Amino acid sequence: MSGLLEETRKERERFVAFAFAAAEIFLELDNTGKILFAGGASDRITPQGKSLIGESIDSIVDKDDIDIYHALVTHLSHKGRIGPLPLRFNTNDNRSIALRAFALNMPQQEGTHTFLALRSAPLGTSVSDSAVDEETGLLTQDAFMEMASSTMASTPTSSNLYMTTVAVDGLEEAKEKFGPRYMRQLLKRVAAHMKTLSVDGQSASQIGEKEFAFLHKNKADGEHLTNSLKSVDENVTLTASSATISAEGGDVSEDQILRTLSYILNQFCKDPKNVTFESLTNAYEDMAGAAQKRVTNMRSMIESGNFNIAFQPVLDLKTGDIHHNEVLSRFNNNMGDSTPLEVIRFAEDVGIIEEFDIALCHKAIDYIRKMKKLGTPVTLAVNLSGRTLDSGRFVDPLMKTLLSAKDIAHSLLLELTETTGVENFEKVEAILNDLKAANYRVCLDDFGAGAAGYQYLRAFNVDFVKIDGAYVQDMNAPGYRPTFLLSIVKLCNDLGVKTIGEHVENKFQAEFLKTLGVDFGQGYHFGKPDFTPRTNL
Ligand code: C2E
Ligand code: CA
Ligand code: CA
Repeated sequence: MSGLLEETRKERERFVAFAFAAAEIFLELDNTGKILFAGGASDRITPQGKSLIGESIDSIVDKDDIDIYHALVTHLSHKGRIGPLPLRFNTNDNRSIALRAFALNMPQQEGTHTFLALRSAPLGTSVSDSAVDEETGLLTQDAFMEMASSTMASTPTSSNLYMTTVAVDGLEEAKEKFGPRYMRQLLKRVAAHMKTLSVDGQSASQIGEKEFAFLHKNKADGEHLTNSLKSVDENVTLTASSATISAEGGDVSEDQILRTLSYILNQFCKDPKNVTFESLTNAYEDMAGAAQKRVTNMRSMIESGNFNIAFQPVLDLKTGDIHHNEVLSRFNNNMGDSTPLEVIRFAEDVGIIEEFDIALCHKAIDYIRKMKKLGTPVTLAVNLSGRTLDSGRFVDPLMKTLLSAKDIAHSLLLELTETTGVENFEKVEAILNDLKAANYRVCLDDFGAGAAGYQYLRAFNVDFVKIDGAYVQDMNAPGYRPTFLLSIVKLCNDLGVKTIGEHVENKFQAEFLKTLGVDFGQGYHFGKPDFTPRTNL
């Protein structure tokens, strides 16, 4: 007997011994998938009155998992060993049982044999049903990110852990040519390959329309996957672009990994062929660099005043007159393709919203003065983040800006947004009182969106309350009752505060708000944001 063969035999014996000790069921198959030997509790998966010996493995694997079994066979030939992989089998009483399969290929004189050790006890983290897409069996993106970041965080540098992201082309073509059902079956086979190659057979997810990600232990698995996709279907050629990064966490926190992960997946979905980082650490640096660049861009945008403002009219619901226009910021492509809300949120996150708010006030004041000079006066409302009023450094420059424009104070409404950023109520209250003394009027934005609306209404002496758009949207739901709106209107009436309903999109909502006693309305029904303000003239 040659040395190699002997070594192999020894390994086989070791494996068999191990498998018998740890597995509940143990199968040996020939290279056509025929069962040669069945041990342990194999009668659990033996059809009644039959023997497994001589049967094809395909006849005992749950038909919903047959794709996974076939993917297992494909990858076992080059990997040699795969597992644990969740795999369902038919039971002797015609039900289905979920098992974890460990598979090993072993060359024999008559050809390669496959050994399957099956366990029922869940291994590692078990996944809840809601975390799995029913059709593909892949993790939902949220579940994947959570699982992946915890796995990465607990995997020290220099152990092997990789994440591959794959964009698969051809699925859409399959749908067009053969219909959605065909496409879904194809998708299921693609998913089976990813699961088979992934850590614990379950660390794979669909992250976009045609993008996927999975965690794996061997660097080459990413390549194996892209190769196997080519022959997944005989009628449709699937092609893939993929990127593999090493994903050991080292001593980075789970939270940081989670953010980096969402950056990576985002970057990949945007441009699958242009992912430049090779490791989690690289991606983190890349992300930090990108954020730094955005901050720099935003700073210079603020300093140069190089951004635009749009205006959306707010109407008196009784008379139809335009009361004022809300100023909404619009950014040029220096800020990437983010929406205004994303830019604002970013500015809040990195702590430059204060500088931005001040720049916006300057812009609005200049605009009001310019229009006044032209003989077409306007009243504007600007959004001011609660954080700005509560900050140590920016209150002074903000107050200087506003108090030196007392002449137009009555034409500038201050809309207090993101009030969750307010910690020091007394301080903000004092600032608002100073502003009111200077003739400014104040509006509490997004009332009802957070839990603390009433608290702010009680603490701050405001002139207007803007009811969050969600309450207006609700009006169109069947069985809608205006309980909350009525109580706001009553409370505001008692306090002498005027109410504004936003996101008014149709006549029904406008009429309803008027009937409830809401004073003003804003929304697409009256006018979308536009680069010139609407006036009564
Ligand atoms: P917001 O203050 O609640 O502004 C109203 C948002 O609702 C605007 O989105 C507007 O375009 C949108 N909108 C208006 N009418 C309708 C409607 O009928 N239906 C629906 N579904 N939406 C409507 P925009 O301009 O994208 O602004 C989003 C948010 O970004 C604003 O919410 C505000 O919180 C923030 N924001 C915008 N500009 C500034 C700014 O200059 N400073 C600050 N601090 N925040 C700003
Ligand atoms: Ca607002
Ligand atoms: Ca709002």
